[in-house]
Amino acid sequence: MSQTTLGIIGGGQLGSMLAIAAKKLNVETIVYCDDQDAPAQNFCTKFISANYDNKEKIIEFVNLVDFVTYEFENIPFDTLNEINKLKPVLPKPSVNRLIQHRLAEKDFVNNLNIRTTRYASIEKKSEIDSLKDLLPGILKTTTLGYDGKGQYPINSVEEFNSLNINLSKGYILEKLVKLKQEISIIITRFANNKYEVYEPIENKHEDQILKFSKIPAEINKKIYDQSKDWAMTIAEELKYVGTLCVEFFIDRNDNLYVNEVAPRVHNSGHLTINAYNISQFENHVRAVCGLEQIPLKKISNAKMINLIGDQISHYRMLSKFNENEFFFDYLKKEIKEKRKMGHLTTLV
Ligand code: ADP
Ligand code: MG
Repeated sequence: MSQTTLGIIGGGQLGSMLAIAAKKLNVETIVYCDDQDAPAQNFCTKFISANYDNKEKIIEFVNLVDFVTYEFENIPFDTLNEINKLKPVLPKPSVNRLIQHRLAEKDFVNNLNIRTTRYASIEKKSEIDSLKDLLPGILKTTTLGYDGKGQYPINSVEEFNSLNINLSKGYILEKLVKLKQEISIIITRFANNKYEVYEPIENKHEDQILKFSKIPAEINKKIYDQSKDWAMTIAEELKYVGTLCVEFFIDRNDNLYVNEVAPRVHNSGHLTINAYNISQFENHVRAVCGLEQIPLKKISNAKMINLIGDQISHYRMLSKFNENEFFFDYLKKEIKEKRKMGHLTTLV
C-alpha cells in the first residue's frame, strides 16, 4: 500500500502530538500553520508556514496530502470548505462551523435533549433587564474564545452596565453553575455506531485554564454512564469522524450539564498517551485516515498537570524522572504568562 499523508492545520502542541502519533502509524504529516515558530515543525514530515487565507500556499499544501484535519476550531469555514472540495476534511467543515459558534453549539446540544447551562444571546445593553435571572452569570464571546479568553463574570445589572464592550461582536450570557466538579469525555468516532470512548476524566481549572486532569474521575455511576451516553449521542448526531471532546459541569446536586464541545483532540486527554494502549491522538489519525479501529485498553490510572508559563523552567532542568512520570515539553519558543508550555503525566 502506498503511504498515507495527513495534512494538519495548526502547529501547536496538539498538532505536534498528532504528528508524533501519525509517525508511529507510518503516516506522513504536513503541518500548515500561520506561526513560523510553531512547535509542530519539530515533529512533522514537512512544515508549511503561511496565513490561512493564502490560496496559493493552501493549494500547495492540499496537493501534498490525502486527508486534512485540524488542531483548533477557529479556522475560517470558507477555508475548510474550499479544501474539502479537493481532499476530504475530517471532521467535516460543517461540524466545525457549528461548534465554533457558542450559541449554535448550545442550541444544537439542547435540541438533542441534553442539558446545558441556561443561556441567552445578548445583542443590546437594554436586553439585560429581561435576563436578570441569568445572573450571576458569565458573558462570553460567541466565537474565538479559548482558555477563558473573551469571558466576563457578571454579578449584577450594574456590573454589566459598567462593562466597556461592543456587544455587536456577538455574545451569550450564561448562568453561573455552582460547580462541584468538571469532567470531560474523549470519544473517537470511526463510522456509524463505531466508537472508542475513554472513561470520564476529572478536570480542575485555575483562572479558567485547565490545570489538572485525572482518571478515574470521582463520580457516581449515573454520571459516568450519562456523560458517555451524551458524548456518543453528540458524536453520532454530528456524523463525526475523528476524536471529539465533550466538557461537562457537575453541580452540587449532582446534575450533569454539557459545557462545550471541542471538535478535536483535547488537553484533558493528554493522559491517554500513557494510560491507554491507544492515545486520543493515535485514534484521531486512525479514524481520519481510515485505518483499523482497535479496542481501547486501559493500562493505568493517571493524573496530568499542565505546566503553564514559567512553571516549565523547573522541569526543563530536571535530568531524570521517575519511571511512572512522563514529561512533555511543547518546545514553544517563548515562555509567556498563561501559555501552556508542557505537561507532566504520572501513572498511579
Ligand atoms: P473555553 O472555551 O475558554 O474553554 P469554557 O466555557 O469552557 O471556555 O470556560 C472555561 C472554564 O470557566 C470552565 O471550564 C469553567 O471552569 C469556567 N466556567 C465557564 N462557564 C461557566 C459557567 N456557566 N458556570 C461555572 N463555571 C464556568
Ligand atoms: Mg472549555
